[in-house]
Amino acid sequence: MKKVLIMEDELNIRSFVVINLKRAGYDVIEAGTGQEALELLAQYPDIGVAILDIMLPDMDGFEVCRRIRATNKQMGVIMLTARTQEMDKVTGLMTGADDYVTKPFSPAELTARIDALFRRLGGDSVVVADVLAQGPFVMNTLNHTLEKNGVRIRLTQVEYAIVKLFMQNPGRALAREEILSAVWGREYEGELKIVDVNIRRLRIKIEDDTANPVYITTVWGFGYKWGA
Ligand code: CA
Repeated sequence: MKKVLIMEDELNIRSFVVINLKRAGYDVIEAGTGQEALELLAQYPDIGVAILDIMLPDMDGFEVCRRIRATNKQMGVIMLTARTQEMDKVTGLMTGADDYVTKPFSPAELTARIDALFRRLGGDSVVVADVLAQGPFVMNTLNHTLEKNGVRIRLTQVEYAIVKLFMQNPGRALAREEILSAVWGREYEGELKIVDVNIRRLRIKIEDDTANPVYITTVWGFGYKWGA
């Protein structure tokens, strides 16, 4: 079960989050202070996403985020912010956090953000094998690496997520909308064009001849297909 930590000192908000996340199928760990959160994070290394309130009695949420990032770059971090907090300050301090949610928030909004993070971190679905091998490509889903003919290809998180989606669906035409929602999350409201931009970049990295792509082929008016 996917494990989520919620750090919030206000009991009514915390309980509200816990009830809703449990209902959404998450295993939820609760902390009321920064100190408690850090202890629990050390105790449960399998926590995939941490939701951190900013205003706490012992330290602020940004400090907790900083300490998490000092040792863990993988974990998803969502900050809980109050509407009264100046957003300039919040975004300035956001370094290290992946996302933020402003109070009051709906449970659906929060779970959508958490789902998106788990998906982006590759923690989604059942990992059938640690290694996906197709044609010249070998993907290691534990190390998040891709090799072509034994040579490591450096990918951004988004590019990695796209290739992983392709390798899980070989030979199937994927609609651009499907790629967008799988990689960026169902709630993402950006433009479809971002899919094309990333595919173009990916082709430069993985195709032998970008003018005549053979691994990622275009399905005109629809999307893309993985053909390795
Ligand atoms: Ca608080």
